[in-house]
Amino acid sequence: MEVLKVNLKNAGYYDKKDAIKDIHFSILSGGLVGLIGPNGAGKSTIIKSILGLMEDVDGDVTMGQGSKYAYIPEHPTYYDELTLWEHIELAKAVNEIEGDGYYQEAEKLLTIFRLTAEKHQYPGSFSKGMQQKLMIIIALLIKPKLYIVDEPFIGLDPKAIKDFINLLKEEQRSGAGILMSTHVLDTAEKMCDRFLLINYGNIIARGTMEEIRGQSVSDGSLMDCF
Ligand code: ATP
Repeated sequence: MEVLKVNLKNAGYYDKKDAIKDIHFSILSGGLVGLIGPNGAGKSTIIKSILGLMEDVDGDVTMGQGSKYAYIPEHPTYYDELTLWEHIELAKAVNEIEGDGYYQEAEKLLTIFRLTAEKHQYPGSFSKGMQQKLMIIIALLIKPKLYIVDEPFIGLDPKAIKDFINLLKEEQRSGAGILMSTHVLDTAEKMCDRFLLINYGNIIARGTMEEIRGQSVSDGSLMDCF
């Protein structure tokens, strides 16, 4: 089952509609797709377009029937006036999640990510890595059919990276589709089934990492990114 189908053309900033030129791909249930490419290639713009955060994008984005999605942003976002636990409560209410199992799961994730002691503190006082962990915990609690993850490893300690990968793989095995933008290629290579190599707003190669390396050999400068 397709959880995401993307067909985007001509998106950008201000009057320049060239950050995305022609991007089309889909993600199946249980698929983990890595979005890779050099700085400025268009990866974040693709993610923003999928989330409906870009103006005047041509084309369309379809999420599978009933596909609830969770977005883990590159830069954590939070409410200054809410504590960590209140963020968790808010996510339950907004996503209309029933039952107390949610809170048990939340406690478990707080333990895994070593945030139990900070439960009643405000995320504004956290380090970037701790804020990122909160974004991850909330996404996992929502149990979406689709994860959209932008540069998840930056700022995370090695244990958190390992735990996050394991939890994400578990979600994948349960049928979630995942789109993950990253520069951490060795980790991505172990995780993703398929990659999309982006450059100047286009997909210039797609497939396994081995296939991508083969396809992008013609562009010497791009190979420096691997
Ligand atoms: P990185 O790996 O550095 O995060 P990226 O692949 O995510 O890069 P984007 O951030 O999508 O790349 O950038 C694509 C193009 O859009 C670049 O030419 C960039 O300069 C431009 N761009 C991105 N954000 C803005 C903005 N807020 N205003 C104007 N131009 C932007």
